[in-house]
Amino acid sequence: MKLFKSIFYTSILLSVFSCKTANSNTINSNNIASIKTNEKKQTISVSDTVFENLTDHSKDFILEMKYATNDNFLNSKVYDCASCYLRIKTIKSLIKANEEFLKKGYRIKLFDCYRPLDVQKKMWKIVPNATYVANPKRGSIHNRGGAVDITIVDKQGNELDMGTKFDHFGPESSHLFTKLSSDVIKNRKLLKKIMIKNGFESLDSEWWHYNLKDAKKDALSNFSWNCN
Ligand SMILES: [Zn+2]
Repeated sequence: MKLFKSIFYTSILLSVFSCKTANSNTINSNNIASIKTNEKKQTISVSDTVFENLTDHSKDFILEMKYATNDNFLNSKVYDCASCYLRIKTIKSLIKANEEFLKKGYRIKLFDCYRPLDVQKKMWKIVPNATYVANPKRGSIHNRGGAVDITIVDKQGNELDMGTKFDHFGPESSHLFTKLSSDVIKNRKLLKKIMIKNGFESLDSEWWHYNLKDAKKDALSNFSWNCN
């Protein structure tokens, strides 16, 4: 048995060694280039959770970042400037969803994307009510770069009727509220269907809010984008 084990381990050792030898013998400039490319690819996949600017990846979205204006339920501008930053994986899924809307003659309009934790604290200071604002101690998926507040617009840029405005805090905003016109129900269903198909989850109480699946596992973040 001992002999068997020793032969077994020796053969493994030899095979590992021979693989290495084979690799080093066959490396030429092309191989080095491909190894470097592989390393680059690895870096890209490892950094799949970094934050990037959505508009650097696609110009097919409409941005109306409400918290960079006073036109929001806080009546207060809490971002220094308007930008839509998200984790790369959120951007990828969002672009796929938008491609489907584009085929139907629509596109996504964004009201909010990644929200730095300090901004969450500002919002909590203005409205310290967990019904409307996530407590910064727990944070929200917006603080993790995995949530978007969105609607759909047509080719002329007109928002589809979703029954309420963005950030309307009432039962009418819920996906479970059914006393709505058939058009509104149809529009909300279209938004939900395509977002879910592309890896997002809806939030029952807010028709405009979508989380990338499993984004709650990502860390809270507090970096701020450059406004210059
Ligand atoms: Zn939201």
